[in-house]
Amino acid sequence: MNLQQADAWLRLIAERVHEQAAVLTQLDQAIGDGDHGINMDRGFTAVVAMLDAQPPVNGDDSGQAVGALLRQAGQTLIRTVGGASGPLYGTAFLRAGAVYSRAEKTSVADTVAAMKAAAEGIGALGRSTTGEKTMLDALVPAFTAAEAAVAKGGDDRAVLAAAREAADVGAAATIPMLATKGRASYLGERSIGHQDPGATSAALLVGALADVIGRE
Ligand code: ADP
Ligand code: MG
Repeated sequence: MNLQQADAWLRLIAERVHEQAAVLTQLDQAIGDGDHGINMDRGFTAVVAMLDAQPPVNGDDSGQAVGALLRQAGQTLIRTVGGASGPLYGTAFLRAGAVYSRAEKTSVADTVAAMKAAAEGIGALGRSTTGEKTMLDALVPAFTAAEAAVAKGGDDRAVLAAAREAADVGAAATIPMLATKGRASYLGERSIGHQDPGATSAALLVGALADVIGRE
């Protein structure tokens, strides 16, 4: 992912989060406090404002440039989103940015490593893992499938398509899960039968990345 793609990805997330805000909020109404769409929309609107305030992006493909942009996005999310998802996604973008910053010329392997680092950052901050009905249930399958696709020699498009598919399946798989982390866990058994809002937004982020990478 070069700088232009990173910029396009963040903007596409913002657009889709805005379109899907009511859906995300509805999901959070069922098992949380009904603000996930609002939180995400607020955060990514601020990310777009941050991007608009930057000098125009060029085709810079240095990892440092991409890393700096992703870290700025993470800081913006932490600063602007009040809910649990702000610090969690913020940390995810900070971790992903740190992976990029260490890369010279970025390849799809760096994108996959960044996804993995993002998920690990969420798990560390949220003291969470898969099977607990959170965003990790979309993100962990996504990077796992992407790693397998890289190992099979898949190109960028194939790797991100595998990630998207796994994230969508993972988000849907949260429906029968019992929530054990976050607000949804207060509901106990009543959390069963609803798709997790954070897993849904995480799949949206992965899908937007697949679309941006697949455009090439
Ligand atoms: P809040 O729960 O503070 O209202 P949001 O509604 O924006 O925040 O986000 C809720 C989502 O955050 C959940 O659907 C879940 O995916 C995710 N989440 C909550 N707590 C954790 C955690 N400890 N680890 C990972 N994800 C979490
Ligand atoms: Mg909420």
